[in-house]
Amino acid sequence: MGGGTAGWLTAAYLARFFEGTGQVDITLLESPDLGIIGVGEGTFPTIRGTLDFLGIEERDFIRASSATFKQGIRFDDWLHAPRPDGSRHQYLHPFDAPFQADEANVLPGWLQQDARSRPAFAQAATIQHGVAIAGRAPKTRSESGYSGPLDYAYHFDAGKFAALLRRRAVDLGVHHVEGMLTGVEPDGAGGIARIVTRDHGKLEADLYIDCTGFRAALIGEALQADFTSVRHILFTDRALACKIPCADPDAPIESVTIAAAHAAGWTWDIGLESARGIGSVYSSAHMSDEEAARTLRDYIGHDAYAARIIPFEPGYRARQWIGNCVAVGLSGGFLEPLESTGILMIEAAVAMIAELLPMTGSVDAPAARFNRLIAGRYERIVDFLKLHYCLSRREEPFWRDNADPASIPDSLKEMLKQWRHRPPSRFDFLLDLESFAYFNYQYILYGMGFETEAAPGASGLSDIGAQRLFAQIRHYGEQAMQDLPPHRTLIRQINA
Ligand code: FAD
Repeated sequence: MGGGTAGWLTAAYLARFFEGTGQVDITLLESPDLGIIGVGEGTFPTIRGTLDFLGIEERDFIRASSATFKQGIRFDDWLHAPRPDGSRHQYLHPFDAPFQADEANVLPGWLQQDARSRPAFAQAATIQHGVAIAGRAPKTRSESGYSGPLDYAYHFDAGKFAALLRRRAVDLGVHHVEGMLTGVEPDGAGGIARIVTRDHGKLEADLYIDCTGFRAALIGEALQADFTSVRHILFTDRALACKIPCADPDAPIESVTIAAAHAAGWTWDIGLESARGIGSVYSSAHMSDEEAARTLRDYIGHDAYAARIIPFEPGYRARQWIGNCVAVGLSGGFLEPLESTGILMIEAAVAMIAELLPMTGSVDAPAARFNRLIAGRYERIVDFLKLHYCLSRREEPFWRDNADPASIPDSLKEMLKQWRHRPPSRFDFLLDLESFAYFNYQYILYGMGFETEAAPGASGLSDIGAQRLFAQIRHYGEQAMQDLPPHRTLIRQINA
């Protein structure tokens, strides 16, 4: 039910998963009158595995969705506001893991260096930092195709992406029905007997997947699943979004999402092939819509654009699978655009549904497990997003409220306490609940100037060994800069 990114990705994924089994018959109902949310242009590297599974080739995807490469996120002004002398704080969250050589771990070696003079952690520990900041592509064309050593995700046009997924899903046998859902008849056991449509009468299925976006027509309106708000932790609840055409067709394209902090939230800036997707995320308790519009205009530098206001309540439903209905996408929850967890959660949910779906017996058997896993994932993402805010030294009320210990979940406070004495480790995280790895936390933590007391020798390297390792990473980085083309050049080659 629903034809946005969630609906089409779910339909295509399940069709592919059960392809050839003859056991599953999928229909997708959507109302073209209502349209899709049309934002959600930034992704996480998991999207590559998903596209691969769906049988969508990278080149076809890039051409069809006006996609570009995303090697991470550049955070501007999150630690402190721009200073009167013009100096600004910037750090990168690259997708590549820190460089690893002969079992030597670069982080303890970095921690032992003088905090006043050492380079940023991501810069010292990855070859991707220099490449991404310089706007180079993560790979290059060779005789055998396109290849390169760096991890990446994509930016894309959300409307075009949904259309591509639709074509693939229909190819895989999904039936596409256009029409408006107008009612739901309960089955008397807490689930759905049939749905009522304006255009096609009553429709019946074994499993109903609610991908109706913020409307949550099945899981929310019909089944009344409770919504857990996290507005007391993550304060942003509104976005102003727009698209700015690219004035110069030869202008470089950023190879990272830019996330620029402002007085009561942040602005995303995403480089597509011939436009930039820009949006300001803010807390309505700390900033009025007029101030937000001014902030966006100041960021863009002119007012020749039409921005759309999108209100949202940060949170999720603890029970997303009830009876024969399961929610995927915005109907199940949404925290905020930071770190692009919207599509990531869709990918996680649909992979779980595919593997847990019973082929015989009761369709709601996996509900309790699914709900625990999904709610756990949301809780962990809340901590990860809060980490971005709570270490800031900015002085505006929004940022002070974010640093107030009363707004920080106990689970995150406990980790921050431990991380004063040792860095984040893979053992801090339960893999099936976690969307991010220990090194994603490290990039945010040390990007925000957090101090961990280093134990001498913990890297397994002598001082000289550490210097040699960092020099090696620098050298590989310089080599990569020479070998990799500008981002726009690669996009052009792929689109040619
Ligand atoms: P929608 O796109 O809203 O689709 C809902 C569908 O349901 C539509 O087809 C609609 O027609 C249909 N429908 C609803 N009611 C009915 C009815 N009664 N009858 C028939 N059809 C109906 N995610 C990321 O991964 N990266 C990002 O950078 C990112 N940025 C975001 C920024 C903002 C401001 C917001 C709000 C979200 C962002 N997200 C992001 C989340 C992302 O946009 C969504 O996860 C994704 O687009 C999926 O949306 P959806 O398919 O659940 O809902």
